[in-house]
Amino acid sequence: MRTSFTKLCMNLFISDCLGCFLAEDVFAKEPLPPFPASIKDGYAVIAADGGGTRFVAGGSSAGDEPGGKVVPGHCVRINTGAPVPEGADAVVQVEDTLLVRSAEEGTKELEIKIMKAPTVGQDIRKIGSDIGMGEKVLSQGQKLGPSELGILATVGVTKVKSFKPPVIGVMSTGNELLEPGETLIPGKIRDSNRTTLLAQLRDYGFSCLDLGIAKDTPDALLNLLRKALDKADVIVTSGGVSMGEKDLLRHVLEKDLRAKIHFGRVFMKPGKPTTFATMEYNGKRKLFFGLPGNPVSAIVTCNLYVIPAVNKMAGNPNPSRTVIKAKVDSDIRLDPRPVIKHVI
Ligand code: AMP
Ligand code: MG
Repeated sequence: MRTSFTKLCMNLFISDCLGCFLAEDVFAKEPLPPFPASIKDGYAVIAADGGGTRFVAGGSSAGDEPGGKVVPGHCVRINTGAPVPEGADAVVQVEDTLLVRSAEEGTKELEIKIMKAPTVGQDIRKIGSDIGMGEKVLSQGQKLGPSELGILATVGVTKVKSFKPPVIGVMSTGNELLEPGETLIPGKIRDSNRTTLLAQLRDYGFSCLDLGIAKDTPDALLNLLRKALDKADVIVTSGGVSMGEKDLLRHVLEKDLRAKIHFGRVFMKPGKPTTFATMEYNGKRKLFFGLPGNPVSAIVTCNLYVIPAVNKMAGNPNPSRTVIKAKVDSDIRLDPRPVIKHVI
């Protein structure tokens, strides 16, 4: 069975892109640094002058426009990140110098002594030494984490084509379910699936809507599903897809929402009743995953079906979970159905 998982590609502001996957390559329009910049606080010098004394001809601070010129026997006081003036080909850090003469009560340096002869290029970041002009800085399919967003800011890209991850609504079904904070009364259990499924999906970085619990009636299910369809791209439910007379979801999906059921039984254990459907709702395609109610079945099928699908919709080039082959210590008796074990 194949169905297409619509990816939503948009031009997004970088402030809205954390965790998104890039839909385009990004190139630098300018070099970084855009001018030869000092790596140290010190003095811009001519290396061929060697060690010894220099007249201090001025200063260059970070943010200053590049200017001035260093001539033999002279130097310029320079700060980290400041433009290295024309003529200079090395920076000597303050720690390798001595102040020989100053004026204006020590606030103006006039002459210094260089204790260690400099070499050409010392402590200077050349133009484009970090990022070359036209260099590809990020590739299509890369996930935009903090560093990647910083790179976009560096190269002046404030909007990028990236995939907008789907919003996922998570809902539980069952007359027997209480909220986790409620006191147990006879015949009831607490809803654990919603907490687990929401946490699992959020752990992957997806934005999720907590849709609550629907009773096992067609009206309750339909009402909650309609509300969900207004806001979510993908709906994940647990319970209500088995063969009991209270398992009404399939009926509601097909008859009331005109959904197309792609599959409703799977040859696996656990997870046999897993149901997958798609539907058009207000002109948008929605995906529906009906997971079994049993808590182990719900989390296993979430990992096997929901995670890869939503990863793919989010533009993740490796949507499937990592599979590691392992040897078991002892024999395990298997069901005729393929058995899936959930390892935490
Ligand atoms: P169902 O798939 O609705 O027949 O439910 C199968 C089993 O899972 C039943 O024992 C339910 O009580 C239990 N169950 C269903 N939903 C949940 C839930 N949200 N949290 C914990 N257990 C559940
Ligand atoms: Mg049920």
